Amino acid sequence: MKMMKNVALLAALLALVCVCEGVTFGQICQGNPNNNPRTSDRLGAGHFGAPRGSRRHQGVDIICNDGSEVYAPFDVTTINRGLVVYNDPDKAAIDRGLVISGEGLCVKLFYVQPDRTSGTVSKGQRLGVMMPMQSVYPGITSHVHVELCDKSDPTGYF
Ligand code: ZN
Repeated sequence: MKMMKNVALLAALLALVCVCEGVTFGQICQGNPNNNPRTSDRLGAGHFGAPRGSRRHQGVDIICNDGSEVYAPFDVTTINRGLVVYNDPDKAAIDRGLVISGEGLCVKLFYVQPDRTSGTVSKGQRLGVMMPMQSVYPGITSHVHVELCDKSDPTGYF
């Protein structure tokens, strides 16, 4: 009897987990339909928590060739604003991004030249264009940096 209760509790917990992870991101970058992440290159790795000097990487890097179109990963009910990533003149070529909200999520996308910085975009529709990352970091795996606004791990959404 006690075991049955535990099984029921476990099932309820699993159901909760499934609800929380109900959102799956659609294709973010043209040419990368499976949202393949940046693995490791001479400048680092793209997974959440990867070392960045004394800090930790706070997002997931999705491979995206310079100049590729960038798409909404979910139904975006609000494009909150445009974003400056570094505020560094040496990195001006890639110093843009977007903050988007929808489906209960708030997400920052770095290195994207936005088509617009307000309004609504459906999942899969174009948000902007990947900026010329190779001009700032030659040899890096060019990528869109995807970060949750609350800094939690976005890996489960891919
Ligand atoms: Zn990143």
